[in-house]
Amino acid sequence: MLYANLEGNPIMNNSVYIGLGSNMGCKRDNIAQAVALIGAIPGVNIKNISSLYETEPWGKTDQDKFLNQVIEIETSLPPKELLRELQNIEIKMGRQRQEKWGPRLIDLDILLYGNEVLDDPQLIIPHPHMRERLFVLVPLAEIGADLRFPDNGATVREVLSSVLAREGNRGIERI
Ligand code: ADP
Ligand code: MG
Repeated sequence: MLYANLEGNPIMNNSVYIGLGSNMGCKRDNIAQAVALIGAIPGVNIKNISSLYETEPWGKTDQDKFLNQVIEIETSLPPKELLRELQNIEIKMGRQRQEKWGPRLIDLDILLYGNEVLDDPQLIIPHPHMRERLFVLVPLAEIGADLRFPDNGATVREVLSSVLAREGNRGIERI
């Protein structure tokens, strides 16, 4: 993976998928604002944006429904720098909660980063829960069904089909 050419200019050669979620306040505005702020990060170009999906909460179910979306960006930022930028956006937008899987104004997760496999306490790629979560797989399949997971070579379409076969398409609606 290259982040700069010999002249030191950044190379936008890393295709990255980011999952966005919101279940507080004006969710639609929160997602739109986050996409705009991601697009304004130096070294990031937005390439593709999925539809919005209304989804049932996952993990902790006694909370409001979520809106979810997945975007594809290309970036010259290495994974941890990108994570830091995304966390800055979460903070700038006023995310405060510390409750695991609890309500949140905005949640920004790095799903896939090119063919990188990272297992760091701070950053795990592919995202550790994405293969179980229809609210990630359905919007991701809309813009990247043929992507392959770098660790086992399965496509997004295949993983989505197996989750759908197991659980059915419950609690997720394209809006
Ligand atoms: P979740 O998204 O699972 O509800 P949080 O958004 O609160 O949880 O994230 C908790 C931590 O997850 C962050 O501090 C971050 O360091 C870590 N993390 C690990 N892998 C990733 C990833 N791929 N994308 C975003 N955060 C990650
Ligand atoms: Mg997160």
